Amino acid sequence: MANKTALVISAHAADFVWRAGGAIALHAKLGYDVTVVCLSYGERGESAKLWKQPGMTLDVVKEARHKEAENAAKALGVHDLVSFDLGDYPLDLGAEARDRMVDVIRKVQPSFMMSHSMWDPYNTDHMNTTKFVLETRMIAQAWGHNPGEKVLGAPQLYLFEPHQTEQMGWKPDTFLDITEVWDKKRAAIECMEGQEHLWDFYTRVAQNRANHFKRNSGGQSGGRDCKYAEGFQSIFPRTVDEL
Ligand SMILES: [Zn+2]
Repeated sequence: MANKTALVISAHAADFVWRAGGAIALHAKLGYDVTVVCLSYGERGESAKLWKQPGMTLDVVKEARHKEAENAAKALGVHDLVSFDLGDYPLDLGAEARDRMVDVIRKVQPSFMMSHSMWDPYNTDHMNTTKFVLETRMIAQAWGHNPGEKVLGAPQLYLFEPHQTEQMGWKPDTFLDITEVWDKKRAAIECMEGQEHLWDFYTRVAQNRANHFKRNSGGQSGGRDCKYAEGFQSIFPRTVDEL
């Protein structure tokens, strides 16, 4: 039987590392084929350290960010890293990008999907990506779109944790224990050489989320220990036979 699959859609090349690196490494370890789509390299908006070097060009920045993303993907055990190269600040999410995204979703047939928060006034690329993901997920479910292809089921869309969390209207309802793969996430974080100022910040985020994992798994009354975790907000309801 084919492996289970997951699809992570990242506006810029580094977002998947900070926000979902643990989920990616953990599911890779569980046998999932995890595909990561980077819509851009974050070449204009998330590469300040590179741009401060004299004589820097767009191509050099893109190449450097691409290499970092590849190294990080390797550290996390990503099955397939797909770069759309749509440009950033702003992303160009036109009809062509939409068709490409639907093709990837249908090809991967993910058990679950991940992307950004619904709201991000600091970074419209992030929230436009989420809207784009919801739209392309919907199109991938339409029987009339490219009839004959395998239609998408109803994978959950998990929104990963944004930067400046409290400003984003993001409310986690799921905490994932990533302790056993933390070393992989930290290694992937350290591939982001252009954003060294965020390495320890995202280590502290994972430690803080671990505290929420402990509290919500029972706290002082039998809660599970956890050292590192990631939080997610799910969009769609769950269907269950028992609560
Ligand atoms: Zn970003």
